[in-house]
Parts: sequence; structure tokens; C-alpha cells
Amino acid sequence: MWLLDLGLDVLKLPIYLDNHATTRTDPRVVEAMLPFFTEVYGNAASISHRFGWEAGEAVERARLQVAGAIGAEPKEIIFTSGATESDNLAIKGVALAMKRKGNHLVTSAAEHKAVLDTMKRLGREGWEVTVVPCDETGRVAVDSIAAVLCERTILVSIMAANNEVGTLNPIREIGRLCHDRGVIFHTDATQAVGKVPLGVLADNVDLLSLSGHKVYGPKGIGALYVRRRDPQVRLVPQLDGGGHERGMRSGTPAVPLIVGLGAAAELAARERPDESRRLLGLRECLHAGIAERVADVCLNGHPTERLPGNLNLSFAYLDGEALMMAMRDVAVSSGAACTAANPEPSHVLLAMGLNEEMARASLRFGLGRFSTSEEIEFTINAVAGAVERLRAHSAAWAVHDRSRAFDPAIGRI
Ligand SMILES: *Cc1c(COP(=O)(O)O)cnc(C)c1O
Repeated sequence: MWLLDLGLDVLKLPIYLDNHATTRTDPRVVEAMLPFFTEVYGNAASISHRFGWEAGEAVERARLQVAGAIGAEPKEIIFTSGATESDNLAIKGVALAMKRKGNHLVTSAAEHKAVLDTMKRLGREGWEVTVVPCDETGRVAVDSIAAVLCERTILVSIMAANNEVGTLNPIREIGRLCHDRGVIFHTDATQAVGKVPLGVLADNVDLLSLSGHKVYGPKGIGALYVRRRDPQVRLVPQLDGGGHERGMRSGTPAVPLIVGLGAAAELAARERPDESRRLLGLRECLHAGIAERVADVCLNGHPTERLPGNLNLSFAYLDGEALMMAMRDVAVSSGAACTAANPEPSHVLLAMGLNEEMARASLRFGLGRFSTSEEIEFTINAVAGAVERLRAHSAAWAVHDRSRAFDPAIGRI
């Protein structure tokens, strides 16, 4: 780590702007977790002694905190190992439980792989899966879902906020449509929790996935909200064993992680209004700063209906990977490497209609709770500098730039 002295402010390098991939655990969350490793270490499922009771009470407190953050009842919260497991449990659980009612599942092309690949597997195993498109901003239209619902449809799964371009979906309207048609509605809200207002009742959600490490909590813990009334959602468990978590998810409760998720959820809910406003300000500053210094940059995703901390840009005639490497002091992610071993361009950007070149030219900036305006200022300079260096060596850019130089419509000499 380098310390860069900029007047009074000390900037710590590298700068972390990849908060959609994961977040730093908030020190307040770590503090809350610590006693549950060494002092209150009982098995929360042990009901015969104090060690177990205290652990059990901590788990129930956390359940209340998580429920509170999304407007649910504590009994409706199932702890899992993360959003991937929550997505799997929600989709496979409903698919198996409702087999006799129907075999049709609906999702969108912009979903996270935890949803898409789960759907793909069910498709191979005999379920009928419809993948509806998103528009050029990454949004799924209610009408496109209404158009594919049928008698056999049992579940619709549409994410609340996209993890690459930050686009928010009209989940309240999609949920209302599903309820009108007697279909279960699942939403992967991993990126939305603590960033945008969310309530399972108002938003007509039956199943909701969330993850600890995306909300400044620990990794390896998540939750699934499972509605108990109007309608009561039934799931076939994906893990068999001791019957923990109302039989839906066996396995000894991970007490320290659950306590951490609870604390993180409560902080996220409490600080959301102010924090979202702050992030939006920083994000707009980053966007404006880059747009002012760099030519031919396009915003990917929705201009307004997006996560406050998300900025996804394509830099024409550049490779996102190369640009990322050229600004090593800023940790972002590129649209070509969503999964580490897979340099394919992002399926989300392609689903939005970007061509392969523009998808590969994208960078995702994910601002978070610990981002500062000094970091944003540094990042603007780093991006502008890197783009300038790379374009200076790009033949394609030279041709483009020269042709524009003589274009009277643009008014450049
Ligand atoms: C990160 C993420 C996941 C996976 O969450 P894990 O807790 O890491 O399994 C799923 N969906 C979305 C939208 C995500 O951003």
C-alpha cells in the first residue's frame, strides 16, 4: 500500500472501487461478531444449556435485524451461505414443490449467473424456462413478462438491481402482475439491499435473496426471505439433515456470521437514506469528471433508474482489460471478466444490445461506504491519463480522431 500526500488529505492506494464484487466488512460489524467466536460459542441448536441458549438468542436477534431491513417477519428469514445458495434454494425449491401445478419458469437475460445457471439446469431436467430480454438500459419490462405467463407458470425470478450496470427493475409492478396471475415472484436483491428502498410487502415479493458481503457484512452468509402469508411459499429443501431453519436449510447455524449479517443489515437500513445520497453525489462527480476529460465515453445502464454507487462506462476504441491494467492504482472491474477464468464479454452488456467491441470496452466503477471524494478525484485523473496513453498508441483511435477532426458537423479543426 502506498500513501500519497495530497495536501492535508492522505490517500491510501490502491483505491477500491469494486463494491459490486464485494465490500469491506464494516469495523462495527466485526466488533459485533467477535464475542461469538470465543465467548458465546455454543451451538444455536442446542437447547439444553446456556451456551446454546445465548447463541440461539443472538441468531434470533439477527433474524429480526435482517427481517427489519426488508420489511419482513423474522420467521420468514432463512439463513444460507450467501446469495448463490439463496437463489438456488428459491428457484429449485419452488420448482420441485410446485411440480404438480406447472413446470414453467420465467427469468431475464440480465440476471446473475446464480439465477441463470440454476434455470439452465432446470431446463435440462425437464422444466420449461423462458428467458425474457431486457431493454438497452438493462431493464425488464412488465409487459414482456405478462406476455409469456401461462397456466403452467409457477415462478418468475427478476433481480431488483443489476450487479454490472446497476439498473433497477420495476419489481413492484412485476410482483403485482405475478400476484394477479397466481405466480410466485422471486427477486435477487443482493445489490439493492441497503442501497434503494425495498419492502417485501409493498414490492409484492414472495422470495428475496440477499448476501452479507455485499452489504459490508462477512462473506459466506446470506439469507432468503420466504413469504408465509398471501401466499404461503413452499420450498423443497436442497440440504437434508438436522432440519434447521424451519426445515428449509439444515446445517449448524454459523452464529458469528449470522450475527455479522444482522448487524450489517441493520446498519445498511439505518444509514441508507444519507448514504445513498452521498454515493449518488460521488458517482455523479466521477461521471462528470470523466466525461469532461475523455472523449467518446458512453454510459451503460439506465441514466436515472440505477444504483447510486454504480457507474458503468464504455470507452470507444479501447479494451477494458487493458485500460484496467493501465490504471493499477484503482481497483475496478471490466465487462470482459465477470467470471475470473472466462474472458467472454459480459452477457448483461450483450443482452442490452452492445456489440462485442463496446462490451469489451467497458469498466464498472462500484462506489461504496468507504469511498471518499479524494478517491474520486484521483480516479478521474487516473482514468483520463490511462485513456490518453492507450489511445495515443491505438491506430483505430487515430483514424477515428482524424476523421472527426475534419468533420464540420462536429465543428473541430
Ligand atoms: C454477488 C451476487 C450474487 C452472489 O452472492 P454470493 O453471496 O457471493 O453467493 C448473486 N446475485 C447478485 C446480483 C450478486 O451481485
